[in-house]
Amino acid sequence: AKEVGRNSFQLFKPAMNARSLERLAMMSRLQSAIEHHEFELYFQPKQCLQSNKILGVEALLRWHEPTLGVISPAKFIPLAEELGLIVRLDLWVLEQACKELANWRTLNLDAGRLAINISAIHLRQGQLASNVQRLLIHYGVSPAKLEIELTESCFISHFSEAKQELMALKKLGVHITLDDFGTGYSALSYLTKLPIDTLKIDASFIAKVPDEYGNSEIVSAIITLAKSLNMQVVAEGVEKLEQLNYLHSLTCDTIQGYYFCRPITRQQWYAFYQQQLEL
Ligand code: C2E
Ligand code: CA
Ligand code: CA
Ligand code: CA
Repeated sequence: AKEVGRNSFQLFKPAMNARSLERLAMMSRLQSAIEHHEFELYFQPKQCLQSNKILGVEALLRWHEPTLGVISPAKFIPLAEELGLIVRLDLWVLEQACKELANWRTLNLDAGRLAINISAIHLRQGQLASNVQRLLIHYGVSPAKLEIELTESCFISHFSEAKQELMALKKLGVHITLDDFGTGYSALSYLTKLPIDTLKIDASFIAKVPDEYGNSEIVSAIITLAKSLNMQVVAEGVEKLEQLNYLHSLTCDTIQGYYFCRPITRQQWYAFYQQQLEL
């Protein structure tokens, strides 16, 4: 390898572009962001296609960084994973979700389950189920109200650890959803080996429905697969009425996406829920 040289400060090379500078800024700020209350949960409801009612809602994390503005989780979640902060962040989300569910009970708000996203790293680490149990008990929340969304990356490596953790969650009575389904590289056989309640079809498939040839067939096959394995199925990223109609014709249970509702703040979500009740 070429010698870098004793006096070269890699950090200030002119090649350092705006993106990596932003990355560095985020990294140094992420650490203290939890303490500084810079995170907020947004909520995006899921709609039942049979009844048109709200079946549940997904919590999506937002970071209000004082100087950088609102940062997308697509940017900071991978950083938090790299920096070893993801478990703390997930736990913060889990606790907020339990508080929120306790609120729902006080308010008599019956909006089905509240789903949170959990990182593969957290699942592997082996304390997810015990953390979930502790917080559910602490906030007096029924496990059936909580849903955990996981991606296939959880099972590519460390299969047995991930399975053990999922079994423990299932035993508690928590609902388990496999997120971004269809985008991973793992074999389908794991579907029968894990206690999965719901398959969520990745938005990239929904985006090409119903126009693109071959794509609709995949979506249709996933729905059939889910049903034959006694799983529920959710389509994410539904933006258009044609997509909704097509999914309905394929007997997809549930949809989520901008067509029904964007991710919104807690106050907006309470208002949305009230408005749906009155329909
Ligand atoms: P995801 O779990 O697949 O979430 C769906 C993403 O699609 C969300 O992006 C949501 O805002 C967006 N979305 C929803 N409906 C539509 C639609 O109709 N059209 C389009 N184009 N997009 C739609 P978001 O909120 O930016 O989150 C990105 C990813 O970050 C999530 O993907 C999830 O993997 C991760 N994430 C978000 N919150 C958390 C969290 O609390 N913990 C962890 N570990 N990961 C999170
Ligand atoms: Ca998700
Ligand atoms: Ca997803
Ligand atoms: Ca995703």
